[in-house]
Amino acid sequence: MNNERVRCLIIGSGPAGYTAAIYASRANLNPVLYEGIQPGGQLTTTTEVENFPGYPEGTTGIGLMEDLKKQAVRFGADIRAGIATAADLSASPYQLTIEGEKVIETETLIIATGATARYLGLADEQKYAGMGVSACATCDGFFYRKKVVAVVGGGDTACEEALYLASLASKVYLIVRKDHLRASKVMQQRVGEATNIQILFEHTTVGLFGEKGVEGVCLVKRKGEPGEEKLSLAIDGFFLAIGHTPNSGIFKEWLDTDEAGYIRTLPGTASTRLPGVFAAGDVADPHYRQAITAAASGCMAAIEADRYLITKGG
Ligand code: NDP
Repeated sequence: MNNERVRCLIIGSGPAGYTAAIYASRANLNPVLYEGIQPGGQLTTTTEVENFPGYPEGTTGIGLMEDLKKQAVRFGADIRAGIATAADLSASPYQLTIEGEKVIETETLIIATGATARYLGLADEQKYAGMGVSACATCDGFFYRKKVVAVVGGGDTACEEALYLASLASKVYLIVRKDHLRASKVMQQRVGEATNIQILFEHTTVGLFGEKGVEGVCLVKRKGEPGEEKLSLAIDGFFLAIGHTPNSGIFKEWLDTDEAGYIRTLPGTASTRLPGVFAAGDVADPHYRQAITAAASGCMAAIEADRYLITKGG
């Protein structure tokens, strides 16, 4: 194996990773950042970002991430393509394997690996993967212009995806398992005002059908209750928007995680239970999951990494 030693290694390139890279570079930690599976993170799959402070007219997810990356590069961050495939955090320097080949030894590690979209777990989701099933409206919405699509979920993401698709598709069904939306009031209002979005409350998706790709969805209304009703709807595309799973897999053996897999940090800090190992952004945040909170925790992680190295005499 091919080993390299660094002072600060950052895994992940969402707002948390890039912000950590900006702060760590400015503190002369010479950070190396591996971008991970989705360079730029989840925001690159979003259209408008209206709530990131400093953009009175809003910006795009991709634009925001490009700006953050440029800012990190400007201060000297070494940004590389690649996925961390294994971790050995048994002793410092910690060892991270990249793509099963290269080993990076690091004095400080900032885990900013984010979270990944969840699926319902239906066999049909696999069967029709890339043939009408998607977890990213902004990536795939283009293919459904003037067509009929369904979005599953009742949170902000589902509403956002439904609204985006409503601007392209002729009709959008929003399939919600409860009798209410979990989304914020402003998103609920926007969905309510869209004339081509129909919300189907208390509907559970049980399957998909179609010859060459998705042609319809099978639903059950009030599943398991008296008077449950089976129905099928003709659709061309099926979009998942039911939340995310934290990308903490390779770190679970070494760090404390909650039952959903989110890395536990010490209250009010980005520190994990291992000295010199920090977690920032969605991988450690089951509560807020916002770009701005991810960026803030990336900043905390870099400052804590710097202080750790100073205390250690690094
Ligand atoms: P959430 O966890 O908030 O919502 C997930 C939704 O999916 C819920 O309605 C949930 O239903 C539903 N769901 C979960 N599992 C299933 C299932 N198996 N079958 C059917 N439905 C299911 O996730 P989001 O991704 O929407 O949002 C995550 C966070 O990001 C939130 O804090 C949100 O506010 C934030 N966000 C903010 C945005 C913005 O401000 N512009 C945009 C997008 C996200 P139930 O309610 O029944 O549990």
